[in-house]
Amino acid sequence: MTKDREGGPTPTGGIRLGSILGFEIRIDLSWFVIFFLVFWSLAVAVFPQQYPELSGRTHLLMGSAGTFLFFASLLAHELSHAVVSRAKGIPVAGITLFMFGGMAWATREPDRPNDEILIAGVGPAMSFALAGLFQALSVAATAYGLGDPVIGVTSYLGFINLALAIFNLVPGFPLDGGRVLRALVWKATGNKAKATRWAVGGGRAFGALLMILGGLQALAGAPVSGLWLVFIGWFLRNLAGASLQQQLLRDLLAGFVAADLMSPQPEVVSTRMPLDELVRAHFMRLRYGSYPCVDQGELVGMVTLEDVKRVPQEQWNRLQVADAMTPLAECAVVAPNTTVEQALQDMNRPKSGGRALVVDRGQLIGIVSASDVTRWIQRLRAVEGLVGRAS
Ligand SMILES: [Zn+2]
Repeated sequence: MTKDREGGPTPTGGIRLGSILGFEIRIDLSWFVIFFLVFWSLAVAVFPQQYPELSGRTHLLMGSAGTFLFFASLLAHELSHAVVSRAKGIPVAGITLFMFGGMAWATREPDRPNDEILIAGVGPAMSFALAGLFQALSVAATAYGLGDPVIGVTSYLGFINLALAIFNLVPGFPLDGGRVLRALVWKATGNKAKATRWAVGGGRAFGALLMILGGLQALAGAPVSGLWLVFIGWFLRNLAGASLQQQLLRDLLAGFVAADLMSPQPEVVSTRMPLDELVRAHFMRLRYGSYPCVDQGELVGMVTLEDVKRVPQEQWNRLQVADAMTPLAECAVVAPNTTVEQALQDMNRPKSGGRALVVDRGQLIGIVSASDVTRWIQRLRAVEGLVGRAS
């Protein structure tokens, strides 16, 4: 799976494992649930049923090796997305493994359908290649008499990677197959929004199908695996819906720049103002949640209510704005002609306080906050409604 940054586990959440090929690898806490379930089913059910003559200790060792290599395979799948994405000029913020698999966090969507086909398609291709590799290893292990433990683990990995490749090829967004479907429709019609709606429709339908199959399975006497399928189906349907909302928002904002939706001429404060005065005369009286800070007329940073709250209240009369503010180098600073999509990305960076300062030739000319964006979207929708009724 590849994913743009929104919803679900985030590229900064969970536990950091380290980095591979320059990509930061993290595991979400939900991952431990599935890790344990896979280990348990392998060590206690799958391998003991296939090889009852082997000892319990051997089953545990086989379960450990199988689980570890299964997650290594998953990671290889995500790494293949990340490597191709980076080669196509789209940086990847990191990789997260979580309950339903993995996620490579692309910083934006591809501009060309062909890029999307490559980035999404390489994941299932990698899983097919791993399936072939492990299958070949199990055949070799049989031929050279390497023993049942090696044969059992390698043939399990061949099977699970094949299943992973096929599951990801299902043509429902945001699965890899859904992304490929979207890119093909996009390429054929030239209409990305329409392509997204088709692919999301596929994702919803597949999610519903899984839920029905899971329900039937549960009724037929396999409640655990049945409910698990229902759960995955439900998750896919939600993910598909969230992707559609995000895409519609993107289409709505496309073509607009920071200057269109900024609050112009924001009120500024001096870096020498005592913090208690800032709270009394500004945060308590005016509606703004942040103020650009100036030192002798020059913009040097921004102070938000959150910045002030980090300073113990008994120090507010002794300290000044300069002591609490975020320095300019850490603020999100955009030009008036920066696209709204880019401005939103900058605003979402940690420490930016959820705001972007709009600076034109060294002069502060405006500020964009989350409420500016919300108001702008409401106005756009209202205008679109008017246009819709008039035509
Ligand atoms: Zn994938």
